[in-house]
Amino acid sequence: MDQPTSVLGLEVISDPAAISSRAAARGDLVMEAVSLSKNFRIDRRALLSAVREVSFTLHRSAVVALVGESGSGKSTVAKMLAGQEQPSSGTIRLDGRTVDVRGRRAFRRYKSEVQYVFQDPFASLNPVHTVRYHLERPTRLHQARRGEALQRELVALMEQVRLTPAEPFLAKYPHELSGGQRQRVAVARALAARPSVLLADEPVSMLDVSIRLELLNVLDELRQQLRLAVLYITHDIASARYFADEVLVMYAGDIVERGPAEEVTQQPAHPYTQLLVSSAPDPDDLGSVLHHGKTKASEGGVEGAASIEACRFHPRCPFATQQCRTTRPPLLRIGPSRAAACWRLDAAAPAVIAGARERGDEVRET
Ligand code: ADP
Ligand code: MG
Repeated sequence: MDQPTSVLGLEVISDPAAISSRAAARGDLVMEAVSLSKNFRIDRRALLSAVREVSFTLHRSAVVALVGESGSGKSTVAKMLAGQEQPSSGTIRLDGRTVDVRGRRAFRRYKSEVQYVFQDPFASLNPVHTVRYHLERPTRLHQARRGEALQRELVALMEQVRLTPAEPFLAKYPHELSGGQRQRVAVARALAARPSVLLADEPVSMLDVSIRLELLNVLDELRQQLRLAVLYITHDIASARYFADEVLVMYAGDIVERGPAEEVTQQPAHPYTQLLVSSAPDPDDLGSVLHHGKTKASEGGVEGAASIEACRFHPRCPFATQQCRTTRPPLLRIGPSRAAACWRLDAAAPAVIAGARERGDEVRET
């Protein structure tokens, strides 16, 4: 079936490179995910389509947030970027070169360039080893340092994550640290490899609310100082607004909306983004933009939403029509660097669509 070139008077984006990323304003392109998909085999007959044709770019000194509730495919995207899962289809490029897991040496270099920080700071550190041990190994491996130089490097890493004075912290075991301190050690260990890309997979979601901001501030400083390209994965769209340049909203394997963080969070266009914003923890900040819909993002989950042909959000969408039940919506341009995939954007976000048309984002109906 031929794709139409416009829907609702909005340009259909068939090449995701046509959407500029707000993150690009910060720095050079580092990493590209091009139409990444991942299917998991459930049994002999069934495949789970966990990630479907996801494309985005990461840039130096910029944070891109991947937002969505549990099960939407966020970690699977990160694992593909980290080389831990093989994409079913699609391409990953680092510094312009296509990543090939078969090229052993190149892949080893890739693995140090792209570091992954996990959600659970308990699970990621070995309880029988000190902080020093956790940091020494990657520092030696990636930078071949010893003696004085190694010691200086360890202290520098601890200072970068603000665990100071460094010496007593280096001697501690994971159980002697708070959750926030453990997560800083995990970040320091990732930095020991001198990466250009940091994949932070829900790095604060297991921490006390009171210390989440501190860790995000540490990451923000590192982004600037080390010019890191950061993929920040979260189910909390309010923190994405605080921390990210660009937001990608993911639902059941699909990117349903993307754009500059403040635009997506202040005037969400896709009904799912509106739902996420309405259930975000800071109602004064974010709640007023939602003017309809009673479903909460915590209800229902993404199960049963995996039909190939439909909009996967339709069972939970207050705007769904027959078309949504039968046909997957294309990504539509709603701004120079903004897009959403929804057949009912005119009903869901009339103001956003009117704005897009006024600015001339509109294309002629053919
Ligand atoms: P998120 O990080 O957004 O919570 P995940 O990427 O972990 O989502 O999972 C997306 C979907 O893929 C879920 O339905 C999950 O159960 C499924 N999944 C993830 N990893 C595997 C795997 N190794 N085998 C089978 N299914 C998996
Ligand atoms: Mg996850």
